[in-house]
Amino acid sequence: METECDATLFRVAIVDALKAMHPSLSVSILSRMEEDDLLLHHVAVCLETPEFLAALLPELSAQSGRDSKSPDPAQETKELPSNAEIIQNAISAAKRFLKSGLALSPIDVREQRLTVCKSCEHCVTPPRQRLAFKLTETAGLKGPVCRLCGCSIHAKTMVATERCPDSSGGRYGRWSA
Ligand code: SF4
Repeated sequence: METECDATLFRVAIVDALKAMHPSLSVSILSRMEEDDLLLHHVAVCLETPEFLAALLPELSAQSGRDSKSPDPAQETKELPSNAEIIQNAISAAKRFLKSGLALSPIDVREQRLTVCKSCEHCVTPPRQRLAFKLTETAGLKGPVCRLCGCSIHAKTMVATERCPDSSGGRYGRWSA
């Protein structure tokens, strides 16, 4: 069982490792890692992969003046959320899913949602070179994504707590949770 002391040591170790890689680490990143355990764990997982780390903490790229290393062509950035937003959306969706006790939509609801998404102009094939989509592919999520949130359509329609983000479809989007 993880004790409070273990958790503190883990936090210190991750922050120290990040500081060693980015000596000018900003206070805002440190306080985010202080408040958000999930972010801390994601940083720990991404520590050895600079591209993933940059997507998770875009401030690091700005600090290091490494924005030019971003893999996103400008045009794609206009059409889809940024890598950081897509990852953040996925993390938020995962939190809701966990909080619901891993509730899945009934099959008929899932099919209705899929039918709506398949005929929606925001249902797109993700560019494979985008970091966020490489990550979701690694997690086993392939296929089309919603252009508005960047989430996998299959995952989105399957998870009971998800909803369509298209506000033009009304208060609950084109389909609701
Ligand atoms: S979630 Fe909504 S906006 Fe996104 S593809 Fe499906 S119907 Fe379209």
